[in-house]
Amino acid sequence: MNKVVFCQASTDLIRPDNPCLDYYRQMYPKNDGYHMGEHFMEVPTWIAVISGMLPDEHYEKSLHVITDVQETIKYFHEQDEMTIVMFSVLEVNKRIVQEVIKDIPQAVMCGGYVHPDEVSDYAIWCDEVTDLIKYLPHVQVDAPPNYNLFKGWMKSIPRITLSEGCLHNCAFCTISRELHEYTYDQVYAQAMSFQGLEFELVYVNDKTYGQANNNLWLNSLFSVIREYNPAFQGFIVQTTVPMASMMLEAWIDMEVIRYIEVGVEVVDTEYLKRMRKPYNLKQLNKLMNKIRQYDIGFIPNIIFGLPDHDYKSTLYWLWWNADQISFINPYVLCQYEESKGQMFEGGGVNDTNENVVDKSWLSAEDINRTDYAMKQAFYMTGGE
Ligand code: SF4
Repeated sequence: MNKVVFCQASTDLIRPDNPCLDYYRQMYPKNDGYHMGEHFMEVPTWIAVISGMLPDEHYEKSLHVITDVQETIKYFHEQDEMTIVMFSVLEVNKRIVQEVIKDIPQAVMCGGYVHPDEVSDYAIWCDEVTDLIKYLPHVQVDAPPNYNLFKGWMKSIPRITLSEGCLHNCAFCTISRELHEYTYDQVYAQAMSFQGLEFELVYVNDKTYGQANNNLWLNSLFSVIREYNPAFQGFIVQTTVPMASMMLEAWIDMEVIRYIEVGVEVVDTEYLKRMRKPYNLKQLNKLMNKIRQYDIGFIPNIIFGLPDHDYKSTLYWLWWNADQISFINPYVLCQYEESKGQMFEGGGVNDTNENVVDKSWLSAEDINRTDYAMKQAFYMTGGE
């Protein structure tokens, strides 16, 4: 039997002192169906996906949560050296992964969203999960996700994907502009794989819900999930302002969507243009007038970390619409090599780290303004 350990760093280790995490911890309990796990904000989907590809009859799989790097290194020195240890490496956790993998005796496999050179001295790098087939036996690339490692101990919000990609071209975004729709069999298999997990909501991972032709499958997927999970309330979708405005009535009629996340980002015409966001303020007002008429959760994504910006118009908009807002998704602007447009000079050490406000394009005054605006935004939308 092959042994695999999936390693995931605890959110508290990745984001120490991050005010957004405190805000989420305050807001999740106030919103029906939202649950914040002890270690993760949500089930790490990459683990379920790879776990599904490694058949139970050939692989003994386990999960290790990193809460302390030295403890993790010690833990692996006590484990079988023939075990394979896997990580998903992101900008926000790469230092933790680097520290661990250089000091453990097991073979390490990594994938994720950093340059492979960040870990390649100590790990095999996989560009895609399907690369596993090159290195491991019995890999089934088309198998559905397997959530067994998360069953029975954490309440969660699993993710379902109907399509990948987004047709828009926002400057700060790295999502491919090619839209790829999944087949019904693939989506159905995902819905069935959640069986045994404790959840009330499912997050639809499509980047702009409504673009793909298969978006109405949520109706039948709701019935599929509800049949084995009577506590299931419905879906969270993420989309754009114009799409939500155009489709809201139809989505309300479906009666299966409980929350809509919308990429508002900043309520400022100039910045919306610079970001190439596909909406204008008139469309946003129209959407808010519609949202007001229905009982549906509304979660605007808000971007912080903008230079020469006082956030006044965004804060005013949040204050004015606070009664319609379930909570906000706060982000600190990042700029990656793969971003669809370069908004700033960039090149700073924290420019790709979403947990750090101190970006190369921000002055000390900008950073103070950002900190202040974040606190105000949290307070206006129900945080402390
Ligand atoms: S930010 Fe959203 S709407 Fe814009 S390109 Fe990315 S996924 Fe699409």
